[in-house]
Amino acid sequence: MTSSNSVKVTNVAIIGGGVAGPALALCLKKHHNIMSTIYELRPAGDERGVNIALAPNGVRVLQHVGVYDELRAQGFSYEQLQISNAHSQPLGRLWHGSRKHYNFQCLRIHRSTVQKELLKEAKAQGIPIVYGKKLVALTEKHDGVEITFADNETVSASFVIGADGVHSNVRDLIMGTETGYSGFMGIIGMRLARDKLHKSVQDVILPDFVFGKTGFVAIMPSNYDGTEVDFFSTMPYPSHSRKEWDELSQDKTKLQAILRERFGKDWPEFVVGITRDYKKEGLELYPFFEVPPLDRWTSTGGRVILIGDAAHAFTPQAGQGAAVGLEDAETLAHTMSREGFATDHMRFLKIWEKHRQARLVQVKRLTDINGRLRSPDPPLVQSLKEWIMWANFKWSGPMGKLEWLFGYNAEDILSHY
Ligand SMILES: Cc1cc2nc3c(=O)[nH]c(=O)nc-3n(C[C@H](O)[C@H](O)[C@H](O)COP(=O)(O)OP(=O)(O)OC[C@H]3O[C@@H](n4cnc5c(N)ncnc54)[C@H](O)[C@@H]3O)c2cc1C
Repeated sequence: MTSSNSVKVTNVAIIGGGVAGPALALCLKKHHNIMSTIYELRPAGDERGVNIALAPNGVRVLQHVGVYDELRAQGFSYEQLQISNAHSQPLGRLWHGSRKHYNFQCLRIHRSTVQKELLKEAKAQGIPIVYGKKLVALTEKHDGVEITFADNETVSASFVIGADGVHSNVRDLIMGTETGYSGFMGIIGMRLARDKLHKSVQDVILPDFVFGKTGFVAIMPSNYDGTEVDFFSTMPYPSHSRKEWDELSQDKTKLQAILRERFGKDWPEFVVGITRDYKKEGLELYPFFEVPPLDRWTSTGGRVILIGDAAHAFTPQAGQGAAVGLEDAETLAHTMSREGFATDHMRFLKIWEKHRQARLVQVKRLTDINGRLRSPDPPLVQSLKEWIMWANFKWSGPMGKLEWLFGYNAEDILSHY
């Protein structure tokens, strides 16, 4: 895709080389020949994060920026997700990805593998990536932004993009917002050999999302041939201080006890086995923090723009954080390339922001519903929830009325201008 700019945007600074940041840099360069520099806090090769499921709306962006083929070989591609209850009754099947319906399957892959491939491609495209750079201050002027890093270096840019995650410094510097605990946490165990699971797993289709009165567990293959699986559970949990969260995440005996208490009996054997026998040292805990809905994703002068978790982090209970961050990146790149953007950026950004915020309201609503469905409940309420899920799939079929989510194509932003 090309664009005909009279005055072209140049010299963009992207803060954060996670998922959304490098995707934006690639889209700007490959589709519109706009150069940017990525500044990343951590050293190269950081492997933070867990396995995530990238739905077709996110995978589509990876294909547009040219890294999908590399990534597909490093993760597990699947189409249908089984949803069942703790009595091993199926509640429904969902097309979580589908070549036929969405052109793409869903891809289960480690977040750091996605990050690594995006950064590798950015490097191959000649996009400068500066590691170990922590943004600490910025000054917006009418024609650009001056940014300062923790090592006191100052650089100028025409636009600064805050892709620096849920605890974004860029966001804090352009508005007063408090990131809050969502009330939910997740415990995950990764890389189990599938053939070591209890034999009852042979009766279910994986990935399987299992709902019961003491909570929710997902079992998902995670490598190319599906021989390795992850399990995770998200659950309501009381708020803790940062120190307490750190202590709890180190207390593997306690994490194991939390799982055993919830899933130790009255669950299918493969769920009981996986949560009981997984080596506790490998358990990882994630408290989920949220950014409250923001009125604007831009600074008052429009030269500082937020994307990804920096703009709208919420819990991963619809499996959409990285996917919508990728959508932000591609839609913003197309927006910044429009003729007239360099001279009238506020007008273009308002249209982009309105379009993206409306979509994020929908995604957040779905996330909250999923959080409610995954929470423990008394038996009667649980039965009602399961009946609703079953009836919903009976009525909507395996598309689950989610075409609006998975069918989204970031290129369509072009029709909004
Ligand atoms: C347990 C768990 C499960 C998840 N499951 C899914 C899933 O199934 N599907 C899905 O789509 N999403 C999922 N997510 C969400 C997903 O991981 C995030 O939404 C995604 O990583 C956000 O991308 P980002 O680029 O906005 O931010 P990040 O990936 O957080 O990247 C931000 C980058 O900015 C850097 N940075 C921070 N501060 C500064 C600074 N001051 N200066 C310079 N650089 C800075 C950081 O080092 C980091 O590299 C999950 C998240 C968790 C925790």
